[in-house]
Amino acid sequence: MIGFMPEIYPDELVYSWFARYYAHSGHPAYVSALGDLMEKKNTRPDVEFISRINKDAKDIIQKMMPMEEMVLGHTMFPYYRFAGNARISNALWAMSANGGDAHQLLPVFKGKHGVQARHIKYCPECASESREAYGEAYWDRKATIRNIGICPKHKCRLEETSIEISAKQSPRLYVAEGEIKDTMPELAEDGLGFQLAEYMLEVFQSPIDFKNGVPVGDFLKSRLQGTKYLSARGMQMYISLLLDDIQDFYQGLQGTANENAEKQDAQYQGITEKHQLQHIFSNKNSDFYKICQLAFFLGISPGELTNPRLPKRTQTELYNEKVAQLYAKGLGCHRIAREVGGSPSTVREANKTKGKKLQGYPAARLGKQAVDWDVMDKEMLPEVGKAINEIYGGGKTRPKRVTGYAVTRHMEWPDRRLQYLPKCRELVEAYYEEFPVYWAREAVWAYKLLLRDKGMEDIHWRDMRVITNLRKDNFEAAFPYLERFADKGTAEDIRGLLPK
Ligand SMILES: [Zn+2]
Repeated sequence: MIGFMPEIYPDELVYSWFARYYAHSGHPAYVSALGDLMEKKNTRPDVEFISRINKDAKDIIQKMMPMEEMVLGHTMFPYYRFAGNARISNALWAMSANGGDAHQLLPVFKGKHGVQARHIKYCPECASESREAYGEAYWDRKATIRNIGICPKHKCRLEETSIEISAKQSPRLYVAEGEIKDTMPELAEDGLGFQLAEYMLEVFQSPIDFKNGVPVGDFLKSRLQGTKYLSARGMQMYISLLLDDIQDFYQGLQGTANENAEKQDAQYQGITEKHQLQHIFSNKNSDFYKICQLAFFLGISPGELTNPRLPKRTQTELYNEKVAQLYAKGLGCHRIAREVGGSPSTVREANKTKGKKLQGYPAARLGKQAVDWDVMDKEMLPEVGKAINEIYGGGKTRPKRVTGYAVTRHMEWPDRRLQYLPKCRELVEAYYEEFPVYWAREAVWAYKLLLRDKGMEDIHWRDMRVITNLRKDNFEAAFPYLERFADKGTAEDIRGLLPK
């Protein structure tokens, strides 16, 4: 019997949700909590996917959302989005309908012997935000994406726990709230590592269009058109040149994107070999990290990568047409070769296919209409100001910290909207508060609230704790800042509340 099932948080892993169920259920051991949820009592909880759950658990999920949504929104499924339309459609169906095993259905890399295991990671800033918003931390998918070492939202380094993610070894149900330490976040540099992390997150979070049948390798190949990596007539790829440039471009990335990349298997070092590129272009390699690396290098936007369209005509067709036109003008092959690039024999070859229709690509559809961010930035500024006022709390309501996250939620915006609105973002950043400062503001507010109903001598630390939820050490950390929000006497009274 499943007792009270907590709600699942945005981007939370099902594993984390189950662990919180255990924490809230009152079961003395995680095994009994698993017994409530799993088909078999001894099923290992999968960190990245959903293990075989029983009917009760399934019913609860289905009352909340369709099973597909749970798989797409709360497991690492989207990491395998490039594995080909047929394969991922089938996997989604099997995983949603009858608990199919992701490790069989998707190209999930199985850790080799002697290779350092991966561990659950987390962002300390994300953890404090969820503690603020929900009163507890949780494991999210963002930090679980392989090869991401920086939180794309907060630009701070992810912390690694000692909890292994492994298909073989059983992880227990580790409750995030108990494992995540209250550490000072370490800011990462504003370099390539951060940009690539942002890029990967956006690709990961983009909806999967199961109706789009364009294989990602074909699409990436089409984006070599007009670059120096493709011959003039488009028949030959210069893979070695491409590999060299990619390696130059990402030089020094190791250590920023993933501290442990060197200790890990080659699988996670990204593109290092020619054959990896060849396999991507021929749709045999669907590795998320490598594809993101390549696409980011080629300047392909996350939107284009996740909704690939092939060009109407290939470079070869365009080349052949041009050659035909020049022949029609009466030019010879040497002259044409100088004009369009390639050798005279390439030009003669191109002319042979004149009239023959080459296999064309389906017509590209129009992209989404572009948003004018500048206009939105200006228009939204007063709205953001209002939101900040409400969040900050004007004395009547409980004060909160003004963060990008809080404003985004208040405005009901998509996660990354604020990043496109520089004026709005600047306004939010002006309100940035260190936690101890915020706690001081909160404490003063709570004290004044209590003073309305009670005499000063009746107010105790316990009352403060109930209202603010502050721990003793937090409260103490706030002491130096109390005078910013109250007069000296009041600040002194508040400090006096702490039991000696
Ligand atoms: Zn974060």
